[in-house]
Amino acid sequence: MIYRFNVGWVAARFYQVTFMRRMMLSFASWFLTAATIPPCYARPTNLSVVLAKGPYSLTCQQGRQLIRDVQAIYARENIKLNLRRFRCIANPKKSRDRLTGHGIDNTHWWWDEEYFVGKNYRPRWIHHAILPPIQHDNSLWLAGQAYQSCISGHKVSTSNATIVSALGEPRYRHSVIAAAHEIGHSLGADHDNSLPATIMHGAALQYVNLWNNWLPISQATLTTIRQCNRGR
Ligand SMILES: [Zn+2]
Repeated sequence: MIYRFNVGWVAARFYQVTFMRRMMLSFASWFLTAATIPPCYARPTNLSVVLAKGPYSLTCQQGRQLIRDVQAIYARENIKLNLRRFRCIANPKKSRDRLTGHGIDNTHWWWDEEYFVGKNYRPRWIHHAILPPIQHDNSLWLAGQAYQSCISGHKVSTSNATIVSALGEPRYRHSVIAAAHEIGHSLGADHDNSLPATIMHGAALQYVNLWNNWLPISQATLTTIRQCNRGR
């Protein structure tokens, strides 16, 4: 009886010490981060990105640059996206995206549901796939898809990206805005269709041009993102 009692006491004491030490450490790290940056962004949001290479897609290097540009857009508003994983792979989804009468009959769903959720999903991370453009009617189309994570808690999104259109017009900026828009949904933002257009406008890509030097993020969008990420 005495032996068993001692073992139980030692185990309980050991647990208590490590638990207290862990609490002190987590409080110390919380204090260090919370004291220096606003509380809603005390932790950076981890980002996992995969670039699927295919016809007219970005190169691996261009994909990394695109993510750096997206990070810069959010960093200006003190929203930190921490790129934890970047994969560059040959497109494993062979079937082509197609445009149909009711929208895009596409492979975006496959990426959301099979690629990320199936085997590459980290809860609380934001997952984004950069896909080749959609080829339709001799044009290259850019689109995107995302779940609004404050509702679903499902932070996966996709966007198409390319450097130039089929007519040779620049499309890199559009590709950056498409990715930033979808990642905005993963941060909890909804569409903001007020004008002048901002990143979360439902048709944001129509407003991208060479002169407006990226689209800004609206105050309403920032408020939503901050509210959403406060409880993260
Ligand atoms: Zn949207």
